[in-house]
Amino acid sequence: MISNTRIGILGGGQLGKMLVQAGSRWDLDMWVMDKDLTYPAAKVTNQFIIGDFKDQDLVYQLGQHVDMLTIEIETINLEALIKLESEGKEIYPSPKAIGIIKDKGLQKTFYKDHQIPTSSFELVENATEIRALVEAGKIQPPFVQKARREGYDGRGVQIINSKSDLHLLLDVQSVIEEKVAIEKELAVIAARNNKGEIATYDPVEMVFHPTANLVEYLVAPANIATDVKYKIQTLAKSIIEQFEIVGLLAIELFITKGGELLVNEVAPRPHNSGHHTIEACRTSQYEQLLRVMLDLPLGDPSILRPAVMVNLLGEPDHHGETYYEGLEKCLGLKDVFLHLYGKAETRPFRKMGHATILDHDLQPAMEKAKFVRQTLKVVS
Ligand code: ADP
Repeated sequence: MISNTRIGILGGGQLGKMLVQAGSRWDLDMWVMDKDLTYPAAKVTNQFIIGDFKDQDLVYQLGQHVDMLTIEIETINLEALIKLESEGKEIYPSPKAIGIIKDKGLQKTFYKDHQIPTSSFELVENATEIRALVEAGKIQPPFVQKARREGYDGRGVQIINSKSDLHLLLDVQSVIEEKVAIEKELAVIAARNNKGEIATYDPVEMVFHPTANLVEYLVAPANIATDVKYKIQTLAKSIIEQFEIVGLLAIELFITKGGELLVNEVAPRPHNSGHHTIEACRTSQYEQLLRVMLDLPLGDPSILRPAVMVNLLGEPDHHGETYYEGLEKCLGLKDVFLHLYGKAETRPFRKMGHATILDHDLQPAMEKAKFVRQTLKVVS
């Protein structure tokens, strides 16, 4: 019985919560580790181990307790996973892939070494080195600075448009990237199993919040020509193969104003750009990961109906206990599916939930999504 298999998840955020929810349909024995019981996944399992997933001993202990481990975040302790893998524990994806991807410098170098299209870049040690390179004329604004480690949701990314922005530089080991003239930002999720079979979802389009650097709307499927869609799916397959990942890989891409396709970054786990797969696709990204881990047939990733996903972000200037305004009005609309993550405290632009909105066509779905975005407010 699959339900006898013990699965450990490092990270109890919303992605961990939705993975547990998918697993509970199959009555799986899932164990989650994160810092305290305020994390979203703690609400959906009593097999929640309070602990820091950056702690080597705690991760190792969880690994010994379960049959297989996966992640919902890359900043986990890697040494423990490497040790567990050497002792025969199943880890999805491999620590080797996580190790490359969690460091944006190693990730970009991997693309370069494998001829995967990406923007040109330099690796630097700190802000002083960047200033010196600018002074020497070796790099010139505009450029994008990305902290090599621990960045997320735009934190750890600085866009330096001119020399007068240099005070914004982060004083950390970084990647300096050429600033790309972006036409569209897209994402695609691929899953690969132990036999090397791959299922690829339809690419989706990400529409960003103008100031918060967070995805505001996600449109599925992306409004792109069919040949571009196939090109992206072929690229996704080749990238997941080259990383030799058994698990999920979400790939964020740019289409440039010149029509070029560039890989921005990847994540080897369930991803924000796949939230809509729960209601809009035949197999959700979460179920797909569980199928891979349990060596079950890959599920059909095809999209059933067009979808728009809206991130529900904490309102600016609101900190503290969470309240939701406008819920009734939004749930009065047809095919609006609401996910509230249950984070105890709201903060400006914190991801507090999302809504997936379906319709027969993208345009009416987008109209409802705009209504939800304007009506549903996360306040304190
Ligand atoms: P994070 O891991 O925090 O999501 P990203 O690498 O996705 O960081 O960057 C956040 C956003 O910054 C991207 O979605 C894009 O809008 C912008 N960005 C990132 N890299 C570049 C680049 N090389 N050129 C132009 N804009 C970029």
